[in-house]
Amino acid sequence: TNPRPIRRLNETVVNRIAAGEELIENSLDAGASNIQITVKDGGLKLLQILDNGHGIRKEDMTIVCERFTTSKLKNFEDLSNINTYGFRGEALASISHVAHVTITTKTADSNCAYRACYSDGKLVPAKPGTNAEPKACAGNTGTQITAEDLFYNVPTRRKALKSPSDEYNRILDVVNRYAIHNSGVSFTCKKQGSNQAEVNTLSMSSVLDNIRQIYGSIASELLGLSKSFKKLEFKLNGYISNANYNLKKMIFLLFINHRAVENSSLKKAIESIYTTYLPKNTHPFAYLSLEINPQNVDVNVHPTKREVRFLNEDEVIAAVGDAIQESLAGANS
Ligand code: ADP
Ligand code: MG
Repeated sequence: TNPRPIRRLNETVVNRIAAGEELIENSLDAGASNIQITVKDGGLKLLQILDNGHGIRKEDMTIVCERFTTSKLKNFEDLSNINTYGFRGEALASISHVAHVTITTKTADSNCAYRACYSDGKLVPAKPGTNAEPKACAGNTGTQITAEDLFYNVPTRRKALKSPSDEYNRILDVVNRYAIHNSGVSFTCKKQGSNQAEVNTLSMSSVLDNIRQIYGSIASELLGLSKSFKKLEFKLNGYISNANYNLKKMIFLLFINHRAVENSSLKKAIESIYTTYLPKNTHPFAYLSLEINPQNVDVNVHPTKREVRFLNEDEVIAAVGDAIQESLAGANS
């Protein structure tokens, strides 16, 4: 596929949707089948994402890190038909305000890649005294985005961060989720300089293969879920742990319309089902993918925590709970 031109959103559109984006989602939106993440000091020193997606056109490199610039949305009507992850044009802008950003990118129809550096949404020279224009360089089709020295200009934010190893675990958790769910995409995540990746999935592997790859022994006891709910307008797919099963806390990987999200009511409902099946102090694993009519989903509730709300939430949660209960009962009768 070829990239679409990047446009400037008008402010009213942007105000009706919230901030909070992931570079991984940009790579998935660009149709990447391979995403490689490299981290130094838990992402504080370096967070780098390399993908083989459609790249960014040279003429768009000037505005790509400005606020409200996106290739994914033209007007508010488009909002109900979103089939990409990003659409607010905020992710790169926010990152470029708190880190040194370098983008190297090549589209299929360009004979070379281009590299540019950004600060506060604008192109900046790579070295003082040189010009800021994108520079031709070697590279494959796709995009590499590097964010260095996170919060270098906001010391209070930097201090509020957890230790590099906690931050790295948080990154791994996010990458794990996307790696498991996107079975057509290979993912790696590693520390800079290490030749051992903590996440390493293949593009040909299934969701179940990916869970096995990432969670090892957990996966031998999983039950598959697959069910359509016509009246409530959603489809459920997933893998859940069987009853006799031991974890220190629940692992809950929830996707709504392919976006990694949280929903605490659903999580609580699932945990309470398992308390009837599990001995005290053990907890379930659940990977659930809900495909809900996009018009019934409000992605705007809590951007930072990725908490989402949807229409008929109680009924949907009850229906998911029933499906889980049925599956557990069937496996343990
Ligand atoms: P949004 O994703 O909401 O459009 P972003 O700030 O995340 O906003 O990205 C701005 C634009 O930059 C995107 O619309 C897309 O055109 C381009 N872009 C960002 N990351 C990539 C990538 N990895 N590959 C190709 N294009 C990208
Ligand atoms: Mg985005």
